[in-house]
Amino acid sequence: MSKIKLENLSKSFGDIKAVDGISLDINEGEILGLLGPNGAGKSTTMKMIAGFLKPDDGDIVIDGKDIAEDDIETKKKLGFLPEGCPIYGDMSVGMFLAFIADIRGYRGKEKDNKIRDAVKLANIEEVLNQQVDTLSKGYSRRVGFAQAIMHSPEILMLDEPTDGLDPNQKIHIRKIIKDMGKDKTIIISTHILEEVEEVCDKVAIIAGGKLRANGKVSEIIKNKKESLEQAFIRLTK
Ligand code: ATP
Repeated sequence: MSKIKLENLSKSFGDIKAVDGISLDINEGEILGLLGPNGAGKSTTMKMIAGFLKPDDGDIVIDGKDIAEDDIETKKKLGFLPEGCPIYGDMSVGMFLAFIADIRGYRGKEKDNKIRDAVKLANIEEVLNQQVDTLSKGYSRRVGFAQAIMHSPEILMLDEPTDGLDPNQKIHIRKIIKDMGKDKTIIISTHILEEVEEVCDKVAIIAGGKLRANGKVSEIIKNKKESLEQAFIRLTK
């Protein structure tokens, strides 16, 4: 299992400080929920951890190694469901997953097994022959989820994993995330507070690119009478 340390992480786009000096520890086997208003810097933080974006400042240390120095080995440990994934619209779902399996270095029987397991977990058997571009939003998310988990990564990052899913699939994916959290370190971003309470061990609340609070839900709420929603509003004002 892996441990992630963010140290004074910062990223700007022109004048916009998307992430502004975030320091955060995510422990082995923890499920962390990243919460924050629109534009808070959640996706940018995840993209930096995944190596999609380079920080302007600060460090990302995974299992004691700075990813700026040891990029490839660390990337193999990561599975990432970004916003708007999957990307290869003109492939069928089956072709897309075979392509991902190839990239991950799987061949022959192992490749077939990895694809089959991911398809089963994401519950996407019925769309295997459909072109990725023509999928509904929910199925598209589930295909993205399948590619993120195919190589059984030690670290899983899921940007709004249940966005667009119907209620049954929301329950299904949340259960899988919770099960996977037993032997993985997981970061999810979400706007659904009940999802955080149901799935996450800890919560990091971000607003304006800054970390406003970090800890268990019971530590973030002011007292037993305050709901997570009320705490969120108080902390992100
Ligand atoms: P949401 O909940 O709406 O998905 P978020 O917390 O994930 O928001 P980010 O997507 O990280 O927020 O965006 C943080 C800020 O950085 C926003 O002001 C956004 O407009 C800006 N931003 C993000 N990516 C880029 C980019 N590639 N170019 C310019 N600005 C960007």
